[in-house]
Amino acid sequence: MPLSPDRLDRFARHIVLPEIGGAGQVALAGKHLVLVGLGGIGSPALQYLAAAGIGKLTLVDNDRVDATNLQRQTLYSERDIGHGKAVAAKRWVTGFDPALDVTISDRRIDSDRAATLVEGADLVLDGTDNFATRLAMSDACVAERVPLLSAAVGRFQGQVGAFAGHLPHEACYRCFVGDAFDADDCDTCAEEGMLGAMVGWVGTFASLHAVRILLNPTGGFGEPQWSTVHLLDGMAPAMRQFAIAKDPNCKACGSGVPKPDKY
Ligand SMILES: [Zn+2]
Repeated sequence: MPLSPDRLDRFARHIVLPEIGGAGQVALAGKHLVLVGLGGIGSPALQYLAAAGIGKLTLVDNDRVDATNLQRQTLYSERDIGHGKAVAAKRWVTGFDPALDVTISDRRIDSDRAATLVEGADLVLDGTDNFATRLAMSDACVAERVPLLSAAVGRFQGQVGAFAGHLPHEACYRCFVGDAFDADDCDTCAEEGMLGAMVGWVGTFASLHAVRILLNPTGGFGEPQWSTVHLLDGMAPAMRQFAIAKDPNCKACGSGVPKPDKY
């Protein structure tokens, strides 16, 4: 569907980029992105993804806004304290661009819920802070053949990795981290501290990567970089990257292991 004059105006700086253009903007308007975790990574990521005109957004978080979040979770203001993050994030998107289609989920993720959330999506961006949720989302992505961008921060080290474990030679997130953390909650932010701009860097880099992946089928800019993890070092500062090999014994995407019923 062609863009209306209002939308052409709104996205004029995108459209003039040869790597996006009118066709790329129309493509973005037709995409469905699931954003899991509306905290320090998810907040700036959502702001840039909504600004990019990604037409359908599913926002997932079961947490509430706390005063200690405001130092880095840029979606929220004091009036949101005590409100659910998913509800507050939807309110932000609706005020920012009412043309976007937003649905929310504010229930804790388990494997069944993960599968329902992921079904039919073009991309999942996971910026949550615990491994149980990350692995549930990753396994659901492999099963539903949806690519996954995984973003995380610990102190001054960030990671953004792109996974397409449903493809024969590409790793999934579980190939990267293994099974050891299945039941653990690794939220260490409160004890270790977090610099707002550090987590913001990771969130905005993840949103850049998301646009790259969503535009790749129609041209865009660069490859999706499946099975590659970017490391963002805020202390140096510097970036580097490394490749993740597919684990043939991975219980989500490996070929040699019988799968449970669901995955
Ligand atoms: Zn795997």
